[in-house]
Amino acid sequence: MKIEDFNFAGKKAIVRVDFNVPLDENGNVTDDTRIRGALPTLKKVLADGGSLIMMSHMGKPKGKVNPKLSLSQIVKNVSDALGVEVKFAADCANADKEVAALKAGEALLLENLRFYAEEEGKPVGIDKADPAYAEAKEEMKKKQKEFAKKLASYADCYVMDAFGTAHRKHASTAVIDEFFDKDHKMLGYLMEKEVNAVDKVLGNIERPFTAIMGGSKVSSKIGIIENLLDKVDNLILCGGMTYTFSKAQGGQIGKSICEDDKLDVALDVMKKAADKGVNLVLATDCIAGDDFSNDANTQVCDVKNIPAEWEGMDIGPDTRVSFANAIKSAKTILWNGPAGVFEFDNFAGGSKAIAEAIAEATANGAFSLIGGGDSVACVNKFGLADKVSYISTGGGALLEAIEGKELPGVAAIEK
Ligand code: AMP
Repeated sequence: MKIEDFNFAGKKAIVRVDFNVPLDENGNVTDDTRIRGALPTLKKVLADGGSLIMMSHMGKPKGKVNPKLSLSQIVKNVSDALGVEVKFAADCANADKEVAALKAGEALLLENLRFYAEEEGKPVGIDKADPAYAEAKEEMKKKQKEFAKKLASYADCYVMDAFGTAHRKHASTAVIDEFFDKDHKMLGYLMEKEVNAVDKVLGNIERPFTAIMGGSKVSSKIGIIENLLDKVDNLILCGGMTYTFSKAQGGQIGKSICEDDKLDVALDVMKKAADKGVNLVLATDCIAGDDFSNDANTQVCDVKNIPAEWEGMDIGPDTRVSFANAIKSAKTILWNGPAGVFEFDNFAGGSKAIAEAIAEATANGAFSLIGGGDSVACVNKFGLADKVSYISTGGGALLEAIEGKELPGVAAIEK
């Protein structure tokens, strides 16, 4: 079913949203992008005259109640964004009363789904190596189904609109659908938009295609990097992984972040890129700091010649130029992961230079897709959000979709 064709009048709709928003130490929402992202779907349910039940996770409470990760903290934000007073059910698996009281045009938010281990469906407190693990996992799968059935019992229809968790096979993303027939389950508007943006990058790629992968580690990005080698013309690798590449080539990297067990992987990426004719663009210089703080003393260094007590924390001036050239010549651009420790203003310049080059390329007709919490935070921080083509709400989900993997949250609706 397509959400556009569904009339929610008189129906209770349970919508899986991604309200995993960042909070400060006082529980205030510091970035409500994800709440705003869900609004088109939520407003459609209410405007049609339906009752809205929202469910989400927040953080990683690992099956335990944790007040710091309570969604009660965001009720006001959701109410303000929706323009309707949102009610709250303090136990997502025992919300029958609150659901029964819900009238047409009213909205209810359920407490953090991950306060129940059943949401993720992984056995807690037992090691994978334990011989009893397989049995515990089977048992948990059964409980997960029961949990999903309970959530499904609240509503007449189910909408999946949490792209950020669409790559997970969790109760609320890819088990609950079993309890609705195909005319009563659908993707929300945000999911539709996200899936279309991925199709645009992967479908009819306008070349040159430049991908920029940053972030802290090679290990968490290697799957997508290898996959991109078959698709891109230019692959820019930056951020913390720079130093694993430098060390692999015999460079001196001082105290820079490095995965010593991934040196072979780095060399292999370099070889594969050469074999496939991909222009691999690595940093040549960096801004090094003598301390991991915003106030560290800095110097520009060759990435293969960093003094012993220093660490590379951002890309240097030469690198910014070479990266900008590979970005500005592109017609399709994908960016995931910052070029440096952008949380510190003094080391945000490299990520800013990337964001500006992407904005310029976009103004000249390129399609640019930005994904992953940190790169999105970068474009927001530099005020360039409206100068790129599409900002995805997904990090891992976006990368898995681009890797060509089927997302359980999408498959659940389409099957
Ligand atoms: P990820 O979660 O893997 O996408 O990594 C994002 C994090 O990488 C951000 O918090 C950055 O501060 C961090 N990062 C980027 N460059 C560096 C660097 N040169 N050294 C240490 N951390 C970095």
